[in-house]
Amino acid sequence: MRIVLIGPPGAGKGTQSERIVRHLGIPHISTGDMLRAAIQEKTRIGSLATEYLSSGRLVPDPLILQLVGERLSKPDCEIGYLFDGFPRTQGQAVSLDKFLGDLKTPLDLVLELQVSEETLLERLAQRGRADDHPQVIRERFRAYRDQTKPLSDYYRDKGLLVTVHGGGTPDEVFQHIVKAVQNHVPGEDAK
Ligand code: AMP
Repeated sequence: MRIVLIGPPGAGKGTQSERIVRHLGIPHISTGDMLRAAIQEKTRIGSLATEYLSSGRLVPDPLILQLVGERLSKPDCEIGYLFDGFPRTQGQAVSLDKFLGDLKTPLDLVLELQVSEETLLERLAQRGRADDHPQVIRERFRAYRDQTKPLSDYYRDKGLLVTVHGGGTPDEVFQHIVKAVQNHVPGEDAK
């Protein structure tokens, strides 16, 4: 299964991703985690990405597409994968479609976590990640609204989008996701 998980900052993408990949036995591809690792390891991409992560802006598409392209070429991706936080722009989505189209391995499903703004702010306040400062959070919300949210229409038009209510407990949200996968990809038995 090839799945994309999108949702605003604080929607629970990281938490749910861990559960989904454990359940389906597929790799977890989080561009945010990959960028944080690159920064830690002081790679070229890491040094180019630092200012974007610390200000809450999106890293330019070419850097992200390079990271993802390298990751997808690893053999563990042959059985499928879950993208967490990618794609985040129309340009990334179009490039991904083209790349996967050439390989004849299209996406199966795009899960969108929908959570009220009040809940998002509460969760971010509890989390305490380096980019969870009020001004950076505002910028990340703006990037989500302007650049990432339009992807729901893009994927809805392709018949791939399933919106899941992400406001409950992690267990409740995960149950919604398992059901959505079963309904959307018949015969998958969520596996
Ligand atoms: P995340 O861990 O997914 O919330 O991502 C943290 C930060 O990494 C974001 O605020 C962006 O600066 C950067 N980032 C992660 N994924 C992407 C992406 N697909 N495109 C552009 N920037 C990204």
